Amino acid sequence: MTPDPWRKAPLIAGNWKMHKTPAEARGLVRSLLGQLAAEPAAEVLLLPPFTALEAVVEELGGDTRVRVGAQNCHHEAAGAFTGEISAPMLAPLCDYVLVGHSERRHLMGESDNVVRRKLDAVLVAGLLPVLAVGETAAERSAGVTEAVVERQARAGLEGLAIGEIGRCTVAYEPVWAIGTGATATPDDAAAAAAVIHRVVAELSSGEVEVRVLYGGSVTPANAASLLSAPGVRGALVGGASLRADEFAGIVAAAG
Ligand code: PEP
Repeated sequence: MTPDPWRKAPLIAGNWKMHKTPAEARGLVRSLLGQLAAEPAAEVLLLPPFTALEAVVEELGGDTRVRVGAQNCHHEAAGAFTGEISAPMLAPLCDYVLVGHSERRHLMGESDNVVRRKLDAVLVAGLLPVLAVGETAAERSAGVTEAVVERQARAGLEGLAIGEIGRCTVAYEPVWAIGTGATATPDDAAAAAAVIHRVVAELSSGEVEVRVLYGGSVTPANAASLLSAPGVRGALVGGASLRADEFAGIVAAAG
């Protein structure tokens, strides 16, 4: 049996998106470090923009309470891909890489296939993928939420070795809840998490479980109820991660 990340601490990840210069990032990290508990019950992950990764790592100065990841990478390791960043380039700075965020899928046109190639590249580089999945408002209205979550999770994980699946985290992020102030209910989050856990169990013959995060307008006020949804083991936070007090409040709610 491979290690069981599902039973480890919850993961609270802050996706800063296209915000923060290196100097601003340093300020946010300093402020966050001042507000986190000495030993948070959750694993804390910051996902700054590429240009602020080094500044964040430096500012953390080896503080073991916070880990660092990237928001995206290219699926090739190197080559003529102007403007892109590869997983091996990120490896000296990061532990995690987010792939398949809905803004990449829907604004940048990334298909399930491209997301999968990125996830493979992250694994090959020795990093930990966070695979984001989730339905649009139209898909929700059409009643195909679970089918979309299953398709995206399967496309991201099918064919991986059991140990590789065990290195993945899956974030359920309904697209209609991202940055909108609307959240899924804990029951919605639990239903999607159940689909993901079922896919993982099937693909790994029951050998591993992964952490499933919920994302979409998480705040300190709603974090505790969303984090207590069955099968949910953490949160992917956008807007509220740009404020140290709010993000620290969400981390505290995970305890
Ligand atoms: C996100 O960007 O992954 C996200 C969940 O954003 P927000 O928390 O702002 O909805």
